[in-house]
Amino acid sequence: MSQYLIDELDRYGVAVRDRSEIAGLQGEQGRLHAVTLDGDGFILTGAHAGAEGLLETSVAGVYAAGDVRAGSIKRCATAVGEGAAVVQFVHERLARVATQLSVVQASQAASS
Ligand SMILES: Cc1cc2nc3c(=O)[nH]c(=O)nc-3n(C[C@H](O)[C@H](O)[C@H](O)COP(=O)(O)OP(=O)(O)OC[C@H]3O[C@@H](n4cnc5c(N)ncnc54)[C@H](O)[C@@H]3O)c2cc1C
Repeated sequence: MSQYLIDELDRYGVAVRDRSEIAGLQGEQGRLHAVTLDGDGFILTGAHAGAEGLLETSVAGVYAAGDVRAGSIKRCATAVGEGAAVVQFVHERLARVATQLSVVQASQAASS
């Protein structure tokens, strides 16, 4: 969000909260993962985050979409489009994980 908008909202008594609090994410087995942010507190994704996926963060399987994502166009249509794309990416990831799991289970069954 631009400083102009923050100032305008402040003028009407609306405080804008820092978004850095969403960088702390509770991962599997209770371990706390943190996604990498840029200097302004926006979440890095894709190559900038060292991630494989376009909208994937520095934590594999965690995605960012919309205003919170570094480099995103701060508009409603963009946020909705990125959100829809992330849903597809999550489905693809879950399918990959399920395939890997079944391969591991088949190999364990074969060796026992
Ligand atoms: C004054 C103003 C006017 C604008 N006008 C236009 C316009 O005309 N056209 C246009 O296309 N765009 C406009 N925009 C931009 C548009 O509002 C944003 O691009 C869009 O809302 C981004 O959507 P988002 O879902 O990424 O983020 P947001 O809409 O900001 O949603 C993020 C949500 O996450 C919640 N949240 C934050 N932290 C946490 C947390 N720790 N835990 C749980 N929830 C949390 C927030 O409360 C919020 O509900 C305007 C923005 C402003 C401020």
